[in-house]
Amino acid sequence: MIRVLVTGGAGFIGSHLCRVLLERGHAVIAADSLFSGRKRNILPLMSNPRFEFMRHDIIQPLFIECDQIYNLACPASPVHYQYNPIRTVKVNVLGTMNVLGLAKRCGARMLQASTSEVYGDPQVHPQPESYWGHVNPIGPRACYDEGKRIAETLCRDYHVGNGVDVCIARIFNTYGPHMALNDGRVVSNFLLQALRGEPITIYGDGSQTRSFCFVSDLVEGLIRLMECGERFEPVNLGNPEERTIREIAERIVSLTGSSSKLVEEPLPQDDPVRRKPDIRLAKQLLNWQPSVSLDDGLKETVADFQARVHGHEEW
Ligand code: UDP
Repeated sequence: MIRVLVTGGAGFIGSHLCRVLLERGHAVIAADSLFSGRKRNILPLMSNPRFEFMRHDIIQPLFIECDQIYNLACPASPVHYQYNPIRTVKVNVLGTMNVLGLAKRCGARMLQASTSEVYGDPQVHPQPESYWGHVNPIGPRACYDEGKRIAETLCRDYHVGNGVDVCIARIFNTYGPHMALNDGRVVSNFLLQALRGEPITIYGDGSQTRSFCFVSDLVEGLIRLMECGERFEPVNLGNPEERTIREIAERIVSLTGSSSKLVEEPLPQDDPVRRKPDIRLAKQLLNWQPSVSLDDGLKETVADFQARVHGHEEW
C-alpha cells in the first residue's frame, strides 16, 4: 500500500484528490492549516481507516513517512492569497522547501501544484509550458505569482542538486463542489449571487477570458502526472475551452433560473486579459484531456452550492 501525503488536503482540490486516492486503495494523510481548507470537505473520509487528518501549516517542517507527496497547500483565490501576502510568500518558499526536504528524506516522489499564474498576464496565447510569462513582481498578485515561480525554481534545484523525484503541474482555473463559498473567485461569486438573487458582479466589461476545468478532470490529470515516472519539467493541466467572463455569468444565470441582473464593477489591478492552456504535452505524456463539459460541471457545482447555501453553511 502506498502512503500518500496531500498538503492542502482539506482544500477544494485536495479533498477531491484524497477521496480518489483512497478509492484507489492508497493510505492518505491530509495535512492542512485550515486557513482556506474546510473540515467539512473531508468529513466523509474520516471514517476510512486508511485516512488521517493532521492540522499542520507547511511553513513549519513536517516529519512523517510517505511514498508520494502532493504539495497543494496554499490559498489560491486572489481574495485569500492577498489577505496576508507575506504569509502567501512564506507558504510558497519556506513551505515548499519544507515539503521538498521531506521528499528528500523519505525518497518520496513529489508533485508540486503550480499555476497558470506563472504566465502572469500572458502575451503568448494559448500558453505552452515553454512560455516564461509576463508577471508584475510588485503588483497585488505577485505574492502568489512570484511565490509559485520560486517554488518551481526550488523544485528544479532540489531535483538537479539533490536528486529529488519531483514533478510540477501548472493548474489552470478549476471549479466544482467544495469551492469555498467566500473565496471570491468568479464561479463561486456568480453562483452565490445567482442563488441569492443578487446582482452578478462582472469586473470590467466581462470580455476577459479564462478556461475552466472541472475538478474531477483535474484530479485525474494530477494522479497521472504523479504516476508517469521521473520528469521534472512542468506540465499544464486545464481545460482549453476558452470563455469570456460575461459568457460564464450568462450560463450561470440560465442554469440556476436566477432573476439576477449583470452589473459591471471595476477591474482589479493586473487582472490577466486572457488565459487558455496549451495541453498538447499533457495529451502526449499522460494521455489526458478534460472530458466534463462546462454545463455538466456547472450543474454539479450548482447542486453542491444549493445544498450549502440552503444549509446555511458558515464561511
Ligand atoms: N471576476 C469577475 N467577478 C467576480 C470575480 C471575478 O468578473 O465576482 C473576474 C476576474 O476579474 C477575472 C476572472 O473573473 O477576470 C477570474 O477571476 P478569479 O478570481 O476566479 O481567478 P483568476 O483567474 O483571476 O485568478
